[in-house]
Amino acid sequence: AHQVVLASRPDGTPTPENFRLEEAALPAPGPGQVVVANRWMSVDPYMRGRMNDVKSYVPPFQVDRPLDGGAVGEVIASSAPELPVGATVLHGAGWREHALVEASSATVVDPGLAPESAYLGVLGMPGLTAYAGLMAAARFRPGDTVFVSGAAGAVGSLVGQIAKLSGAARVIGSAGSPEKVARLLELGFDAAFDYHDGPVLPQLRRAAPEGIDVYFDNVGGEHLEAAISALNVHGRVCLCGAISQYNATEPPAAPRNLALAIGKQLSLQGFLVSGHQDLGPEFREKMAGWLAAGEIRWDETVREGLDDAPQAFIDLLAGANTGKMVVKL
Ligand code: NDP
Repeated sequence: AHQVVLASRPDGTPTPENFRLEEAALPAPGPGQVVVANRWMSVDPYMRGRMNDVKSYVPPFQVDRPLDGGAVGEVIASSAPELPVGATVLHGAGWREHALVEASSATVVDPGLAPESAYLGVLGMPGLTAYAGLMAAARFRPGDTVFVSGAAGAVGSLVGQIAKLSGAARVIGSAGSPEKVARLLELGFDAAFDYHDGPVLPQLRRAAPEGIDVYFDNVGGEHLEAAISALNVHGRVCLCGAISQYNATEPPAAPRNLALAIGKQLSLQGFLVSGHQDLGPEFREKMAGWLAAGEIRWDETVREGLDDAPQAFIDLLAGANTGKMVVKL
């Protein structure tokens, strides 16, 4: 079976040379372990941070070792009674065709409830990120005007829709192309703009003439600066991601206006989805209901084959995806 290893660490934007596809022997499962034939794997922005040799909230990938990340597949050999052959499971050993997995670290998913890949997106980590980031970190309240950046991506597209369903007065999204802006309006956003069309702040002010109460930040930099300027008194920010900085080799130039947070008594809350697993059951119940009622729509960009996974990841960072970027193995 094949796996993708980290060939070298990137300097700035990753290139295909930073990855290598290699053959790996498929081990037999020991007690409590299963072998999973992966059918879907996730590529996610946080993986860019793991390519650097720095201590962070997840350990770095190691050179010449396989990468890992979310994956869904079928159990094909089992030494764990609770996970029989044929079960479909979500686990953390992606970037490979076959994975040896501790049964205790895998979750059985129901392919009857939603397509398998949904467990990497709308029903999985990005979905919980959107829900918990909005509700717990940004302390969303009905009547809020909400601005979300990276709005056409996996997390952002759900933030906007969850906010609308939960009683937001107005939801504004920013994204990187006219097609994405059009899609956001179809998804029920009240306003959307392409951040390539000019500076963020004037576009945000036009979209939110009365200011914003919540900013869900996936991007950082100029977007965060514009949001700080547009936030109303007691505004709340979920600091979820800063993708505009992930490939940067220089410190960011913005935000320069942080002192505004004092007078406006803003809350800027750093957020990690791993710290909010307690909201998982509530999130899954609500999301299953919204999906069953057709109230939430989710987009997916699908790439095919493990050998295309590095390019899928590189393209994700460049905005090639609408909704969740996944790789079908
Ligand atoms: P997305 O599906 O949103 O994909 C990433 C998107 O980022 C691209 O499609 C691109 O869209 C946008 N982007 C890339 N470069 C820039 C830039 N310079 N400026 C503005 N936008 C840019 O990914 P996810 O939904 O999985 O993740 C969204 C954010 O949430 C990321 O920052 C990620 O790190 C963060 N995250 C944080 C978690 C946490 O626990 N804190 C958990 C999960 C995700 P476009 O065409 O619009 O530029």
